[in-house]
Amino acid sequence: MRTRLVAGNWKMHGGRAANEALLAALLAGLGQPRAECAVCVPFPYLAQVSERLAGTSVSWGAQNVSEYAQGAFTGEVSAAMLVEFGCRYVIVGHSERRQIYGETDAAVAAKFAAVQAGSMTPILCVGETLGEREAGATEATVARQLDAVIARSGAAALAQAIVAYEPVWAIGTGRNATPEQAQAVHAFLRERVAAAQADVARGLRILYGGSVKAGNAAAIFAMPDVDGGLVGGASLAAQEFLAIVRAAAHGEGLKEG
Ligand code: PEP
Repeated sequence: MRTRLVAGNWKMHGGRAANEALLAALLAGLGQPRAECAVCVPFPYLAQVSERLAGTSVSWGAQNVSEYAQGAFTGEVSAAMLVEFGCRYVIVGHSERRQIYGETDAAVAAKFAAVQAGSMTPILCVGETLGEREAGATEATVARQLDAVIARSGAAALAQAIVAYEPVWAIGTGRNATPEQAQAVHAFLRERVAAAQADVARGLRILYGGSVKAGNAAAIFAMPDVDGGLVGGASLAAQEFLAIVRAAAHGEGLKEG
């Protein structure tokens, strides 16, 4: 069985006081959810969230990591450093990293491997641009991004990972993929993993990300191959995020795996 996960991606937002208010409201409203809940925060706030969320049902993680273990890499943060802050998850290959910072498929695959070497769980983001979708290249794009990781780490490595399908045209735009569009790509990704390792594919959690909100979450999460969400903007508003977590918990938050 696959337990649904809703992970918030705070991106480059936050401040100590604002974080405290957000986390307090989250914890107050969460109860004992049947879906798993996590927040991925900017590096400087890892100490704050690790103290605030320790012993709660909310996990936390980072939004990026260096592909290197240590050394003269000014400005970088290693997996071992993240482990010291109790990170469980690390987002790798977010489209903003791929597009703005030029991260290649190979670099993302190296980061994926670094996260797993640190015994944390990578959340591997894949997704097509609008141009790629319109050119009929959605499957080829996400397959290429997924295959880079499989080529480096092997399909078995996906047993300890999460994949997030995030169409670039839906991120931060207010224009989400329809549930059917999301399902089609999720099913494609699962089948691609199944071709290499069927048992891993059955257990693999594939999140949808891209303008998930309280109003559209339930319909998207109802799709058979959607196992939760990676949520950007809406994760910064406690009540909105809580409503999304509740939408994931609906139906006991479990999918056949
Ligand atoms: C994201 O940043 O991963 C994301 C999905 O953003 P948003 O929910 O704001 O579209």
